[in-house]
Amino acid sequence: EAKKEALEGPHYFDYYLMDRLMAQLTLEKKMIRALAARQFELHYQPKIDTATEKLTGFEALIRWNDPVQGYIPPGTFIPIAEENGFIVELGKWVLLEACRMNKRWQEAGLPKLPMSVNVSAVQFRHPHFLRTVEQVLAETELAPHFLELEVTESLLNDHVLIRDTLTALQQRGISLSVDDFGTGYSSIHYLKSLPVQVLKIDRTFVQETPCSERDNSLLRSIIQLGKSLGMTVLAEGVETKAQFEFLQQNGCDQIQGYYYSRPLNAEAVEGLLKSS
Ligand code: C2E
Ligand code: MG
Ligand code: MG
Ligand code: MG
Repeated sequence: EAKKEALEGPHYFDYYLMDRLMAQLTLEKKMIRALAARQFELHYQPKIDTATEKLTGFEALIRWNDPVQGYIPPGTFIPIAEENGFIVELGKWVLLEACRMNKRWQEAGLPKLPMSVNVSAVQFRHPHFLRTVEQVLAETELAPHFLELEVTESLLNDHVLIRDTLTALQQRGISLSVDDFGTGYSSIHYLKSLPVQVLKIDRTFVQETPCSERDNSLLRSIIQLGKSLGMTVLAEGVETKAQFEFLQQNGCDQIQGYYYSRPLNAEAVEGLLKSS
């Protein structure tokens, strides 16, 4: 009986899991090569002031076009890069590229606007994170108040570790946003105590507006909450005119979404900046 089992192998061997691990391993190797081969790119999504409908800044979003596989969305490879630690290197590249481009536009005489960069929790908690940010600013000569960092609400729950870093960043003039707000579980009291300037309402709260009365009142409450905390409130994923008008009428400061613009490549941003 024992011999039979040895020959057949354990019965719980999971081929599905094995397939997934193999796919993940391939993607991991590809990612590392892709960075060296300059296959990553940034696109930039405009942020709009709801009252004036003017451009207030951009969010940098990473893009990966694999020559064989085609477009691979960040939702697929960022979690893997977080798991294996590669996000630290990749995230540094994102920071550098975003600051470099912003500086280049400024030097070309285009309007000077802030750019936000997404920072993953793994990257943020890394002991060298602050130093990396300082190095990037020094190297690109971008003024710190043109850089904003977006961290997710779930990262904020890590109370002890992050407060010092947030405070240090704020002291250097870098502003901070809570991304995907409403999907994590941060306590309001705690949020109030952190040096965070912008609250980005997750797009799931905007989706059903203005059709769902329940979502409308929820959205109004979140806007009010952000205002009460003295924060700038931005709604993500605004796709329709009706959503935009609802947010405008309910005091949301800024919006981002396909209604105004999809994320743009660098060339398209230059065009937009020239005409604004
Ligand atoms: P996020 O930071 O919340 O970014 C917003 C996402 O919503 C982006 O997806 C954007 O393209 C998409 N979006 C913008 N407007 C609309 C809209 O009107 N409708 C819909 N349906 N979607 C809209 P993307 O670029 O696929 O990025 C997904 C997530 O991946 C980001 O969510 C962020 O968490 C992460 N990510 C992207 N770039 C980076 C990066 O450079 N570093 C890190 N650490 N994470 C990144
Ligand atoms: Mg973001
Ligand atoms: Mg978001
Ligand atoms: Mg989101």
